[in-house]
Amino acid sequence: MNEQGLSEKEIFSYLENVKSEDTDYYRVLSSMCTHPHRIAVEAHRIFIETNLGDLGLFAGAHRLEKEVIGMLGELLHAQSVEVPSGESCKSSVCGYLTTGGTESNIQAIRGMKNHVTARGKKLGENLNIVVPESAHFSFDKVANMMGIEVKRATLDSEFKVDIKSVENLIDTNTIGLVGIAGNTEFGQVDPIEELAKLTLENELFLHVDAAFGGFVIPFLENPYSFDFKVPGVTSIAIDPHKMGLSTIPSGALLFRSPSFLDSLKVNTPYLTTKAQFTLTGTRSGASAAATYAVMKYLGREGYRKNVQYCMQLTAKLVEEARKLGFEPLIEPVMNVVALRVPNPDLVREQLLKRFDWNVSITRNPRSLRLVLMPHNTSQDVEEFLQDLKKVTAEL
Ligand code: PLP
Repeated sequence: MNEQGLSEKEIFSYLENVKSEDTDYYRVLSSMCTHPHRIAVEAHRIFIETNLGDLGLFAGAHRLEKEVIGMLGELLHAQSVEVPSGESCKSSVCGYLTTGGTESNIQAIRGMKNHVTARGKKLGENLNIVVPESAHFSFDKVANMMGIEVKRATLDSEFKVDIKSVENLIDTNTIGLVGIAGNTEFGQVDPIEELAKLTLENELFLHVDAAFGGFVIPFLENPYSFDFKVPGVTSIAIDPHKMGLSTIPSGALLFRSPSFLDSLKVNTPYLTTKAQFTLTGTRSGASAAATYAVMKYLGREGYRKNVQYCMQLTAKLVEEARKLGFEPLIEPVMNVVALRVPNPDLVREQLLKRFDWNVSITRNPRSLRLVLMPHNTSQDVEEFLQDLKKVTAEL
């Protein structure tokens, strides 16, 4: 650090320079985040100094958090919703705002573990959960942090988790299952109803990772069953900072029953509230305000239009790609396309080097992974396919 402070001018000219290294989402087809809505940005700014880690000091920001959880609960078909005040959560569905899908997934599994332990269920030393092979890498962090084995069930030909494989992996040390509603690589939705049936039969918990799909599936023409409407679903992760168009960091975790949240409780002796249920201590009230503002501003109609727009781009990309001879691995379920191209790793490298396109690759099988987000346009799709044609023709 320098001894004396620099001038504002020096600092901001440096920042502007550095900012020019960021993509600004130009030609980005690999991200599940996008520009936050301007209403979210403005609300974020107003609540910039607020800290949800000390609720008593920020009753206003906390009120917004409660309202957001209420709206999300309603979106996800919870009967009634509550946000813990720092002491307990007494009725029905509970939740809180997290930093994103990773934190929500970690806390959901921690909730399962603590809940099972509190119930005094006799288990061996090595607890495990069963997740689809397509699960986000945040579950590797769960394994590492909590010493819980993460068993990976295989996928069927449509990249949904294979129920037989899940069933075969369940043993006496299994505490819960995970289903993905909008998996990161293929945008596919696991058979949540079938997973829920398995969890009920085996007295397990079911966490649904809808970090991406939570703001997509409810607004599709034919929505899938993936939320609290399905008996057996115990928790859901949903990220306002992805298709919810809020500011980063904005995630949310909702539990069907208050007892899960209670199992995460830690006493907080010197704060204005007696306990915390969250993973992080200090939390951004600005994220709560941003999410509140954009959800209120757009309403269901606004999100429906947003999803329609992204799905139209997706359909156009697939249709035009087919004309060039490139087939998707599956008919897209949401705004994610896995495109079969020869030598995908090399194609990806060339697309970036020659034409500035940021795309990513699915792991198994390897294919081009393209996410069509609100920052993309119809012209992007046309130009991308022209460039893809050039790159593949020259390989
Ligand atoms: N779950 C799914 C399905 C995701 O697609 C992602 C990120 O893309 C995550 C979890 C992790 O979310 P975050 O990066 O916000 O922690």
